Amino acid sequence: MSRFLDRKLQTLEPYTPGEQPRDMGKLIKLNTNESPFPPAPGVLDILTRGQSADLRLYPDMNCTALRAAIGAFYGVEPQRVFAGNGSDDVLAFCFHGFCPNGAAFADITYGFYPVFAQMFGVQETIVPLRADFSIDPQDYAGIKSTVFIANPNAPTGLCLAPGQIEALCRQNPDRLVIVDEAYVDFGGETVVGLTEKYDNLLVVQTFSKSRQLAGGRLGFAIGAKALIDDLNAMKFAFNPYSINRLTLLAGQAAMEDRAYFDKTRGQICENRAFAREKLIQMGFSVTDSRANFLFARAPGLSGGAYYKALRDRGILVRWFDRDRIRDYVRITVGTREQMETLIEETAQILRQR
Ligand SMILES: *Cc1c(COP(=O)(O)O)cnc(C)c1O
Repeated sequence: MSRFLDRKLQTLEPYTPGEQPRDMGKLIKLNTNESPFPPAPGVLDILTRGQSADLRLYPDMNCTALRAAIGAFYGVEPQRVFAGNGSDDVLAFCFHGFCPNGAAFADITYGFYPVFAQMFGVQETIVPLRADFSIDPQDYAGIKSTVFIANPNAPTGLCLAPGQIEALCRQNPDRLVIVDEAYVDFGGETVVGLTEKYDNLLVVQTFSKSRQLAGGRLGFAIGAKALIDDLNAMKFAFNPYSINRLTLLAGQAAMEDRAYFDKTRGQICENRAFAREKLIQMGFSVTDSRANFLFARAPGLSGGAYYKALRDRGILVRWFDRDRIRDYVRITVGTREQMETLIEETAQILRQR
């Protein structure tokens, strides 16, 4: 640490992302919830010489075509769509600008929320999940802070029904509810439709999980126009050109290819059902995940031991060494073949124990 760092940031604990090994070798990477499939065919056509040559020009800071494509997909006006450099970028603006009364979120949820809170000096209120890892909207009644809900939640994969999100919005019309739908395309139900009715609801989504663009860095938010105007004001006061030209085109192409989107997310849901069933047969306890990962507890084996055993066999999953979830690992759902390998190796690990 230099002696120049602001005191406020001297204790900042950065987000710990899943490992991104430089040499993948034969590793099966099931630790950061990326898609095992390539981006949509139209995305692959974007890296042409012509498009690349245009990189000398600044990108469209209003993201006009991309916002139109997202708007068309969801049936909302483009003015109600905000685009950012990954949904982490969007969430950062939310913590920075929309939390004058603090932020409330679950004890077990996306690990970036407490980091953002600290980074932006936002007071946090931690609301523990119920014993079965579910969220009870009643637990948020009376909380005045901006509420952040990952739905489906990470790393549990569990969902709130739209009616429960609506209940959160109704509890207090003067409190903002931000729903992080990073995983919604794998069997959750989006509440984008509710943003028409509730001006205190903001829905955040990403292209990283269900649209094969984690490396492109693209996320978005949908909400009342006033909220979107605020997000744009913050973006234009910070980094107006935060989304590069190629990513703008890639995002548009990915949004417009509904068939590929449906095919790939359908496959993930099938592979998830396959792997879940097999794990349960082997005695695992597995949550009813609606995300592109499974949250599973091995029989008679600690989460850390199972994680390490898989790693020794070339399969990388995520293990969180923290209270309540230490016995579990989070396994990204990959291809059918990857899931078969996971199951075979797991069977051997259990036999050798
Ligand atoms: C992956 C993830 C994000 C971040 O996605 P990016 O768009 O890649 O920044 C946000 N929220 C949750 C819950 C996630 O799991």
